[in-house]
Order: sequence, then C-alpha cells, then structure tokens
Amino acid sequence: MTKEEMYLDINKWKKEKNAIILAHYYQDGDIQDIADYVGDSLALAQKASKTDAKIIVFCGVHFMAETAKLLSPKKKVLLPVMEAGCVMADMMNEKDIKKYREENPDTIILMYVNSTAACKQYADCCVTSSNALGIIDYYAKEGKKILYGPDKNLGSYAMKNSNVQLDLWNGFCGIHNGVKVSDVEDAMKLHPNAEFIAHPECNLDVLSKASYIGSTKQLIEYVTKSDKKEFIIGTEMGVIHEMEKKNPDKKFYLVSPRLKCYEMKLTRLEDLYNCLKNETNEIFIDEEVAKKAVKCVDKMLELSK
Ligand code: SF4
Repeated sequence: MTKEEMYLDINKWKKEKNAIILAHYYQDGDIQDIADYVGDSLALAQKASKTDAKIIVFCGVHFMAETAKLLSPKKKVLLPVMEAGCVMADMMNEKDIKKYREENPDTIILMYVNSTAACKQYADCCVTSSNALGIIDYYAKEGKKILYGPDKNLGSYAMKNSNVQLDLWNGFCGIHNGVKVSDVEDAMKLHPNAEFIAHPECNLDVLSKASYIGSTKQLIEYVTKSDKKEFIIGTEMGVIHEMEKKNPDKKFYLVSPRLKCYEMKLTRLEDLYNCLKNETNEIFIDEEVAKKAVKCVDKMLELSK
C-alpha cells in the first residue's frame, strides 16, 4: 500500500469516526503531514483539552497520550505504539516521588510533563519547556522549597535564568543530554555562517554555546522569524521537518546525528493506519490516579493562558 493510499483511508476514517490525530514535532514527517495538529507538549495538551472529536489518536510517546486522556477522560485516546515510552519519564517512579511527598509535605513539586500520570498525582503543577520559567517564578513567590523533576537539565537552566533555588530530580533526556560541546564546535566549524539554537533539555555547557534556547515550538518560531539563513539545531531531528516546510529558503543542520529519539520513531505510518482502523491501543488510567493527576495539568494550563 502506498503512502497516498494510506492517507486516503486515514482521512476517510477520521471523518467517519470523528477522530483527530495529534502528533509531536519529533514524529516522522509522514505522520506529521497527515496529523490534524502538530505541536510541542504544551500545545498538544491544550489542543487535547479543547477538541470535540470522539477519538484522539496521539502520535507521540506514552506520557503524552496519558496527558491527553487526563484532559479528555470521556474520549477514546489511542496510542499507535504502546511501547513508545520516554527515557526521562522512566527516571522518576511513583514509589520514590510518593516517598518524597510524604517526607516533604510543604515542598512545592513542579513536574515536567514528561512524567507518568502515577507520578503527576503528587505534583502541585506541571510544566513544559515552553512555560517552565514563568511557572517556577510564579511558585517562587510563595517562598517555599521547590522540587523540580524529572529533568535536571531544564531545572538547571531555569535556576540559571531566575533567582530561584530548586531541588532537582536526577533525571534527563538521554537524547538531548548526549550532545557534547565538541559536537557544537565541530558543527560551527563546518557551518561558520549558521547560528546554533538549542532545547533546554541539553546540558548547561551545550546551552552556553546557543544564541537562542527554547521549546520545539519556540525554536521553529525563532528560525521562521529570523533573517538568518542557516541554523545548527540542538534538539530532536524531527523538528527539522516543520522548519524546512515553513522555511524552504533556509538550511538546517542537526548538531549531532545522535539526536534521534528512538521511542518517538517507533511509530510508523502503518501503526497509525492500523490503530485508527481497528481503534486499538486505548489508554486507560486508574480513576483515582487520574482524579489527582489531572489537577497539576489543569493548573499548568490555567497558568499558561
Ligand atoms: S526526546 Fe527525550 S524527553 Fe523527548 S520523548 Fe524522547 S526520550 Fe523522552
């Protein structure tokens, strides 16, 4: 079956079933192109909370589909590949964060959206890379101790850019954290006219070389508005698809070939096709867990308006 034939069927089923396809920027281009909406974690969460569709097919990783289910509990949320997880989300488990909460009842827990629903139930508020600085500032005014996790890199970046002291969970994205300063220096030598921009999941040494730091959506907006013609990209390779679509006259170079999230790339067009056709791989969350976990996501959306 060709890609075009699959697209025809998928579009037909979307109408018949009243389904919407949400895709993260790190998905393959074939999937981004058939999605109704492509975005970063914050934008996708906002979209999931507002859609009238009966079925949400979430092309991304497990915690993202879970977040969509938290926000749309009555809807059928499907994840084309159930095994698509997130290395960073796996670095925080429910037992440890529950223990932390019990031992630190007065601490504010701010949790990166890259976390399981089971962990989110212990958080005061969620954050994404788009809104982390603003939300941390907001809670800092309460003058209490703040734990931020699981991404220590985004937490370190937030501390550097505010006067807020955070306790950091020892988690990270293996993909972004794998970028080295030498990768940036090599890419800059190879492309002397290009500007290096990066995602805050990279470590601080790498970020110190960047002329702009932002979430995937912010990086796309930045290159689109910029007068510059060449960019070295310090985030997952999938983002270049949208950058090239929006900016056919500009050139984008990935800072390291290792910036490929294998979890995100597990989803192929065939998986999306079969998932929507058969309505398989539905996300379920324990009702009690969902009731508690949704509060921190709702709080984030309220603070991000
Ligand atoms: S790129 Fe990193 S943080 Fe994002 S889904 Fe993949 S492993 Fe998780």
